[in-house]
Amino acid sequence: MSDANLISPVPLYINGEFINSSSSQWIEVTDPATNDVIANVPCSTESELESAIASAGETFEQWKEVPVPERARLMLSYQQLLKVHHDELATLLSSETGKNFADAKGDVWRGIEVVEQAANIASLMMGETVENVASDIDSYSLIQPLGVCCGITPFNFPAMIPLWMFPMAIAAGNTFVLKPSEQVPLTAIRLAELFEQAGAPKGVLQIVHGSKEQVDYLLAHPDIRTISFVGSVPVAKHIYQTGTHHLKRVQAFAGAKNHMVVMPDANMEQVVNHLVGSSVGAAGQRCMAISVAVLVGNAIDVIPDLKAAMRKVKPGPSNDNQAAYGPLISPAAKARVINLIEQGKQQGAICEVDGSHCQVEGYPDGNWLGPTLFSGVSTEMAIYQQEIFGPVLVCISVATLDEAINLINNNPYGNGTSIFTACGAAARKFQHRIQVGQVGINVPIPVPLPFFSFTGWRGSFYGDLHAYGKQAVRFYTETKTVTARWFDEDIPDGPNMTIHLR
Ligand code: NAD
Repeated sequence: MSDANLISPVPLYINGEFINSSSSQWIEVTDPATNDVIANVPCSTESELESAIASAGETFEQWKEVPVPERARLMLSYQQLLKVHHDELATLLSSETGKNFADAKGDVWRGIEVVEQAANIASLMMGETVENVASDIDSYSLIQPLGVCCGITPFNFPAMIPLWMFPMAIAAGNTFVLKPSEQVPLTAIRLAELFEQAGAPKGVLQIVHGSKEQVDYLLAHPDIRTISFVGSVPVAKHIYQTGTHHLKRVQAFAGAKNHMVVMPDANMEQVVNHLVGSSVGAAGQRCMAISVAVLVGNAIDVIPDLKAAMRKVKPGPSNDNQAAYGPLISPAAKARVINLIEQGKQQGAICEVDGSHCQVEGYPDGNWLGPTLFSGVSTEMAIYQQEIFGPVLVCISVATLDEAINLINNNPYGNGTSIFTACGAAARKFQHRIQVGQVGINVPIPVPLPFFSFTGWRGSFYGDLHAYGKQAVRFYTETKTVTARWFDEDIPDGPNMTIHLR
């Protein structure tokens, strides 16, 4: 373990200043590959939360008046700066998540793409006009910012998910209070430093830290207009219920159980590669990870090849280019996944590959878990019902595509899904009938892009559907419709025609 006295406290970012908290409650931030403490993050005090919200509220009064092209230019500078610091951000992000470097770069890149959308803010904030809704009267809409918006983010994408939120909200003219995951607060602070360097005025972005107590304070605060949340299902429900109880606009992205349907006519080499990559990549800690393979008919014959491929994949530290993925975020997360693996065995599933006893040379204290594969899984088992959030793939066999579609549509979650097939008719039927937000056809993880929408269906999302990318502008703004008579006298030589249609 590192010497606690040498560990620097993670600052708050309030009114444009990076300041140390006066809190008496601190949480250790650890490197998941070693469990060494790399920082201490405060649970913000009530007065620190109040200062952040007050500063965001005061700044809003000026920021909303800044011309839209200037707000867009801030996003252009920020996008440039994020690209310049891409590797540095990825290295920092790896240190607190354990992600391998390529994966960490992807995390940052997905965020940069959202900033690019935010730079289009002028076109995204255009209203609509209808001339002559009555004689000499025009109607048009104005899109206006709301005020202080708030974001609460999870551990698994420390760059991408905060960047889903604050750039679009701020470009639209709001100010923002971000509460990043207490497990990965360092990337968020660096994002804020770069935002300031890009020219963001004091107070448009605030960062506070903590966990449930601090989140509950934000949820109840009368000066916060919107809550954007990404995280686990129980917390998403709590956020949605509490936030709406306090009459806020809330969007809550929740957990997932993503199925990949394998038809017997699929290219099985591709299937094996993609099933392995999409289930164990990022140690399975992705909301879009594939965690269930639905093998239709003879597709069950893929299991021996899948087993062999799973066995070859190894986790390792972020600087090991040969490692397929990193450690789990914490010892508690690892213990939870091992517990689910044990339940799978006890409930009668066949554990084809068991990663419970994984060691990585030179890193005896990391939260490692090897790839794990179950076959013979049924829907009552805990490993099917729960989001495992580890490098575990469960296989279910069904007889027909219809059965596969019904299985997926009856699952409580609906974040992502995919089908592998050589048959266009099967793919078309799947695309049409499946009740899931992101659909892949011969693509394992249909990654959301900011020029499309992204929200899960059913238990994977609660709240306003304008949640992500360019559509998020609708979440972060109000629409005002104006009906105007511009003249109080007749124009002498204009056309004068009356029509009577009945
Ligand atoms: P989490 O729910 O434990 O934490 C998310 C945030 O909520 C953190 O900032 C945390 O401090 C706060 N929080 C935790 N417990 C709380 C409570 N009781 N009351 C109020 N706030 C609380 O999630 P996590 O473990 O950090 O992230 C993993 C989860 O996020 C997975 O379930 C994953 O599927 C989900 N996720 C979903 C998406 C999506 O787009 N749908 C994307 C990424 C992650």
